[in-house]
Amino acid sequence: MTTILIRGARILGGAPRDILLRDGVVAEIGDLAGAEAGQTIDAAGLVALPGLVDLHTHLREPGREDAETVETGTQAAARGGYTAVHAMANTSPVADTAGVVEQVWRLGQESGHCDVQPVGAVTSGLEGRQLAELGAMADSAARVRVFSDDGKCVSDAVLMRRALEYVKAFDGVVAQHAQEPRLTEGAQLNEGEVSARLGLTGWPAVAEEAIIARDCLLAAHVGSRLHVCHVSTAGSVEIIRWAKSKGWDVTAEVTPHHLLLTDSCAETSPLGPYNPIYKVNPPLRTAEDVRALREALADGTIDCVATDHAPHPVEDKETEWAAAAMGMIGLETALPVVQEAMVETGLLDWAGVADRMSARPARIGRLSGHGRPIEPGAPANVTLYDPSVRRPVDPTAMASKSRNTPYEGMTLPGRVVATFLRGRPTVLEGKLV
Ligand SMILES: [Zn+2]
Repeated sequence: MTTILIRGARILGGAPRDILLRDGVVAEIGDLAGAEAGQTIDAAGLVALPGLVDLHTHLREPGREDAETVETGTQAAARGGYTAVHAMANTSPVADTAGVVEQVWRLGQESGHCDVQPVGAVTSGLEGRQLAELGAMADSAARVRVFSDDGKCVSDAVLMRRALEYVKAFDGVVAQHAQEPRLTEGAQLNEGEVSARLGLTGWPAVAEEAIIARDCLLAAHVGSRLHVCHVSTAGSVEIIRWAKSKGWDVTAEVTPHHLLLTDSCAETSPLGPYNPIYKVNPPLRTAEDVRALREALADGTIDCVATDHAPHPVEDKETEWAAAAMGMIGLETALPVVQEAMVETGLLDWAGVADRMSARPARIGRLSGHGRPIEPGAPANVTLYDPSVRRPVDPTAMASKSRNTPYEGMTLPGRVVATFLRGRPTVLEGKLV
């Protein structure tokens, strides 16, 4: 088994320490000048974080291998500093049976770039008519704990209630894509001044907030665990803050793009107005919403950052706004965007970043081998990050099979230098191993 000595890393931004990885675990931490190792890595100036965990990744396989595969998506994850991702269920076929989730889980094991934890669909075929085989997916080799119809909302209150009740048996959680369907028919962009000026059908904040409020009440009523996907409005934050103040078991995530970009990108971006690179579900909101989301992530009302990495082939994005697919890739830019939005602004330190991008998402997804502090005995899932550089985002240099990043041309801070999955490097010198 390999032994790797990381020299002079700043764990969570603290004083430089040496970290010895041996047999898949963190073996020793301290001044290890005399330690023997098969490989030594100079980490002077680098911040060491526990391997990042994403609760919300679209790997597209099976069905849309033209956009992404488990292989390319997990490569992108490793390049972004991730050691585990949750693969969303809206594949083709839908991950709504033990067979499909086991297929995705096995593909993840074969890829080896990071752990892949499949998410199971809540309803068969994401059709919102009957519950999928939740118990069979939980009992399968994939041991599914997170269930979501993401991409679609479980809008039927009775089905949502049943799902919340059902997952209690195996400590599961329902991750809701909160979007009231009738209020968002044909919706294109956040309902507001920008959508009015551009003549794009508005996507009102209330369509998200109404479902979140309902689901918090349902989760409390049946005593179950609810997770709210990609929170995007200031009003949603207020509802979640209220639900948490009641002691209800509600958690929430925010995407990097909702922490940095606003609906004005659709009007005034250097990439040109009406550029569908900014079309995403839920839509980019206002500067006021961004401020509220940042504050909520900082104070813990929003538990974690989740990428909602949504790869699309060029032909599905480079078309007119109304016809374009919704979504943007995000695995390889998540940490730089969080540094820009949260660390450079003084809202989070590196310990806070580790908590919101590793510890809490691992806990919500019940991934016991991830999200642990970097300390002796913990699985050696470690990311080495250089926060001191700034560089332009280059989509052509990304590992993802798709190129739909909204940050093209922007300059962002930071660079993932190395990622270790159970002591084995998946990325070194910024490159895939
Ligand atoms: Zn979604």
